[in-house]
Amino acid sequence: MFESWDYYRIDADLTDEQRLARDSVKRFVDTRFRPLVTKHFREGTFPRELIPEIAELGLLGATIKGYDCAGMDNVAYGLVLQELERGDSGLRSFVSVQSSLVMYPIWRYGTEAQKQRWLPALARGEKIGCFGLTEPDFGSDPGGMRTRAKKDGDHWILNGAKMWITNGSIADVAVVWAKTGEGPQSIRGFLVEKGTPGYSTSLIEGKFSLRASVTSELAFDDCRIPADNILPESKGLGSPLSCLNQARYGIAWGAVGAAVDCYECARDYARERVQFGKPIGGFQLVQNKLVTMITEITKAELLCLRLGRLKDANELRPEQVSLAKRNNVAWALDIARMARDILGANGIADEYPVIRHMLNLESVYTYEGTHDIHALIVGRDITGLDAFHG
Ligand SMILES: Cc1cc2nc3c(=O)[nH]c(=O)nc-3n(C[C@H](O)[C@H](O)[C@H](O)COP(=O)(O)OP(=O)(O)OC[C@H]3O[C@@H](n4cnc5c(N)ncnc54)[C@H](O)[C@@H]3O)c2cc1C
Repeated sequence: MFESWDYYRIDADLTDEQRLARDSVKRFVDTRFRPLVTKHFREGTFPRELIPEIAELGLLGATIKGYDCAGMDNVAYGLVLQELERGDSGLRSFVSVQSSLVMYPIWRYGTEAQKQRWLPALARGEKIGCFGLTEPDFGSDPGGMRTRAKKDGDHWILNGAKMWITNGSIADVAVVWAKTGEGPQSIRGFLVEKGTPGYSTSLIEGKFSLRASVTSELAFDDCRIPADNILPESKGLGSPLSCLNQARYGIAWGAVGAAVDCYECARDYARERVQFGKPIGGFQLVQNKLVTMITEITKAELLCLRLGRLKDANELRPEQVSLAKRNNVAWALDIARMARDILGANGIADEYPVIRHMLNLESVYTYEGTHDIHALIVGRDITGLDAFHG
């Protein structure tokens, strides 16, 4: 009988280093994170006590070379995110935001002094970061943002608000995107430190998804920051979008992890649960669901591996990332719903991980470009026609 979820033995195609990175994170998730996740999900908190161990594993800014970062290849990093999201999308989100949305822009658009100051501390988990792009009135269309930065001598003055910001309330530094003039081409990145007068955060309460992740609103009210807190190489909307592209790459891998956890749970349950005198896994309809699940997991994993190799070869196009994010998250959500169904009433209880993954994946479907926005990105790529404006 086939016990693993790796139906096509993709594992055989990995290097020893990639397997090692994956297996050490798998152990961490199973022994350290899983025992805590239900409590944190119920309480709506992120397990901050684990940040030093996450940092010790080299997961923060893992693909950056130098600055106390691990310098992993992109396939290894993808596998790591997959294991984290097998635990919970909130855990993967924490690592994605710190790595792709905070460390990456500092590394790509910052000065050497900014890199020296922030990257090692962020890699060691001594400092936490967040990324402020979305606003209450501008989500899929961030180019319309209202947040403004105005130069005043040797300071910038920020005014505006950011919404739905992961890690916002616990962050020591926020990478904030603001317009310095008119139009999306005037967008620049700024580093805003916790405690700066005029900068405040508030926790978003009442979430039913990504509960083990902190989500906040950021407000800037005549917030004065030193002139050198601008990320000088950032220019226009393309800069924050390049960060999102890094994060979306990780989501494509991560979503497979959540799907695998749901699949394994449903398969084990179907073998045990007896109705009408036999295990429900022996009914054709249930087998059909399990087969669909493992088929789509296998396809999604092959997509990821190819994506990772293109990224390592520096040949990856953002549109290819969009296709994978869109496909893998949509299937992960469908797989979570199928698993939820197979578990019957138990499927809605947090004794099992399925309902938690299912609820989390609703956010993952929406953030970092919604499912439909990624259809528009790929659609434009293959037709040459822009459907964003109707
Ligand atoms: C838990 C969570 C954490 C997040 N973390 C962060 C973060 O750390 N930093 C950050 O900056 N943001 C973050 N976000 C925000 C996230 O990126 C946005 O929610 C997302 O971009 C969608 O924006 P919106 O919610 O305003 O939806 P909208 O843009 O209002 O979209 C609503 C619906 O309209 C559709 N739609 C919009 N435009 C079009 C179009 N042209 N054609 C067809 N359909 C369209 C969308 O697909 C969607 O179905 C987070 C969100 C969540 C839920």
